[in-house]
Amino acid sequence: MSDHSFSGFELPDELRMLSEALRDFVRNEILPVEAALDPTLRAIPQPQLGELQAKARTAGFWCMDAPVEFGGGGLSTFEMAVVWEAASRHRYTFPTPGGGVIGYSPPVVLYRGNEEQIEKYVKPVIEKGLITFTAISEPTGGSDPARALRTTARRDGDKYILNGRKMWATNADEADFGVVYARTDTATGRSGISAFVVETNTPGMHVSKVPVMRNHWTTEVEFNDCEIPAANLIGDEGEGFALAQKWMVRGRVMLAAQALGVAEESVRMAAEWSKERETFGALLATRQGVQFPLADSLVEIEAARALAWKAAWKDDQGQDARVDASMAKLFASEMGFNTVDRCIQIFGGMGTAKEMNLEHWFRDLRTMRIVEGASEIQRYLIARDLLGAAATGR
Ligand SMILES: Cc1cc2nc3c(=O)[nH]c(=O)nc-3n(C[C@H](O)[C@H](O)[C@H](O)COP(=O)(O)OP(=O)(O)OC[C@H]3O[C@@H](n4cnc5c(N)ncnc54)[C@H](O)[C@@H]3O)c2cc1C
Repeated sequence: MSDHSFSGFELPDELRMLSEALRDFVRNEILPVEAALDPTLRAIPQPQLGELQAKARTAGFWCMDAPVEFGGGGLSTFEMAVVWEAASRHRYTFPTPGGGVIGYSPPVVLYRGNEEQIEKYVKPVIEKGLITFTAISEPTGGSDPARALRTTARRDGDKYILNGRKMWATNADEADFGVVYARTDTATGRSGISAFVVETNTPGMHVSKVPVMRNHWTTEVEFNDCEIPAANLIGDEGEGFALAQKWMVRGRVMLAAQALGVAEESVRMAAEWSKERETFGALLATRQGVQFPLADSLVEIEAARALAWKAAWKDDQGQDARVDASMAKLFASEMGFNTVDRCIQIFGGMGTAKEMNLEHWFRDLRTMRIVEGASEIQRYLIARDLLGAAATGR
């Protein structure tokens, strides 16, 4: 073979073994605990969560995505795409695969924080498994935060004073702190937006629950003359949007990986069922009306994985992977939703039962088509890359 030979689609042994071990951990440890829980619970409760977390730490599955210097596993975007898929095959995989069992990540912009912020906020999240929140979206809109964002942060000596309202902030009602994006400059656009750490017990901050489709738990957060230390500014004033964007590719690839894990598990479950369930004197597995949706799902899963892995690989190479990540998130989230829908159909009534994970995933994947850039926004970004200025009518 020439030097230009393609190294192929095989994963490196170490990564393949890590992914298989994690998949086994989910199957043998997390799934039995979830199966015994009331399926309407918000998450895996204590003491079960703590017990599972201890096992995950021992097995080396703790905070694999966080940088090594902060106490995490330091996996690359590609490695994370592979393990995130393996970690996603259980009920409480949304919003975070593992449901806290394998740790939580701090809001990723904090990795760009200063030493004091890393010690005070990043390391405790990784060490103790704390819950945090991120608040960008507002009642005025989430798709175009650069224009819609109205919350202000006014500097006053060694403090900033926050005023405004945030919508949909996931888990702010249970979090110790979060990162809030606010305008330090009233100029419109991205350059006036800054990111701040805000502790949830700060006077002037009020969190109220906004019930939505489960398993997401969102809130509205109000700031009324809420004073926070100036030291809580992350990076420089006006840098908030740029900091958030640095992680966008990785975030979108991780969502695609989650959808992949769930889709593949749904197909596995539906295939097993079709080999046991008989109607009209024959197994469902013999019917082409059952075979074809399973086959279509398998093809689409492979296509979604190729998109996700390519985007992840480009990100790790330092290449611009924004459009690739949009393609991966768009295709995988829509594929995941369609696949789970087909699999529910194959199960019939049982597919809708709360004790089955399918109905959880159906709701979660519906939401995934809206969060972190809705499908229309991903399509817009892909088309804008193709059409250039013509896409915006200029
Ligand atoms: C369960 C859940 C959890 C969330 N968690 C968080 C969180 O933790 N933190 C946070 O900050 N936000 C969070 N969000 C907010 C989420 O990011 C926004 O809902 C999302 O960005 C869309 O914003 P919007 O709802 O304001 O819709 P809008 O921006 O008002 O858009 C409405 C619809 O119009 C479509 N649309 C917009 N522009 C165009 C266009 N140019 N062409 C065609 N169609 C268009 C959109 O795709 C969307 O379907 C969460 C939302 C949900 C539902």
